[in-house]
Amino acid sequence: MANDTLGEVRQNTGLLSYRKPPLHMIRRLWSTTLDLLYPPRCGVCNRIDTHLCPRCAALLAEHQPIIYQNTSEFLSAVCATAIHQGAVRDAVLALKQDSHESLVAALGERLLFAFKQLSWPVTCIVPVPLHAGRIRERGYNQSALLASYLGALTGLPVMLRALSRVRDTGHQVGLSGNQRRMNVQSAFMGDPSLISNHEVLLIDDVFTTGATLQASAEALLKAGAAQAFGLTVTAAAL
Ligand SMILES: [Zn+2]
Repeated sequence: MANDTLGEVRQNTGLLSYRKPPLHMIRRLWSTTLDLLYPPRCGVCNRIDTHLCPRCAALLAEHQPIIYQNTSEFLSAVCATAIHQGAVRDAVLALKQDSHESLVAALGERLLFAFKQLSWPVTCIVPVPLHAGRIRERGYNQSALLASYLGALTGLPVMLRALSRVRDTGHQVGLSGNQRRMNVQSAFMGDPSLISNHEVLLIDDVFTTGATLQASAEALLKAGAAQAFGLTVTAAAL
């Protein structure tokens, strides 16, 4: 069949006008379908039809005094916006299950509020990475979402590839501080071409024993970073 004729057939059958919808449209349609089948629930109070209800959003916007400490082997300073309890804890846990923009924004605003008070001389933002296997499992890295939010509002570059998790450390729940330190030792690697001489702001969702943040900072310093600071949404204790 000549090309012209084939073109006519396609036009007549509507094949020519068919365009594959872009991926983001498919994702949005899928997400809307899921919302209809399984209505979202507030990540904090479980109220239906919202990922974060106005009442809980207001609770998260209440800023308590920041928790701050500046004695750590590899980190010049560490800060968390709240103790890991109550609405903030529930929202942090919800962000591990649901990457909805309302949760990212509510927790990202807390980081921004704390960061503005700290006056740390940072030149870039680096999220604590997840192992590739965990990313496949969850679909996203919650710390990278928070880092990107903070980067967009501060204008600081967010280096998503500056630090990688070269070993899967598994779930750390239930491990003691010492076991966590052993578990994350040498789990991270920094990229000298990206990080050399930078003053890095490390972002993570939770500070439990500090083992993950310490190991991340150690890898960054080994890769040539000048300094590393740590900022998390919550902390078990600092
Ligand atoms: Zn709620």
